[in-house]
Amino acid sequence: MTAIAAVQVKNTLHIKEVRKMAVPKSKISKQRGNKRFAANYKATAANLAECPQCHELKATHRVCPKCGYYDGVQVIKKEEK
Ligand SMILES: [Zn+2]
Repeated sequence: MTAIAAVQVKNTLHIKEVRKMAVPKSKISKQRGNKRFAANYKATAANLAECPQCHELKATHRVCPKCGYYDGVQVIKKEEK
């Protein structure tokens, strides 16, 4: 038996093993499946960091919405109020 043939035999499921495989008794409805996924869903708070320019809390890796700075460069023009 060649090496390739041996791998093919190994990867092929035996008939007895196929009979043992679990088979769903009935279809799980969209509602039931969605309910199961929703039960494990947890919303997480946004990651905020202090802006080095204006020391306001801002989302990380985003241009500061207050002063328009990113990485020490003014990217968006902000008018003084
Ligand atoms: Zn800022």
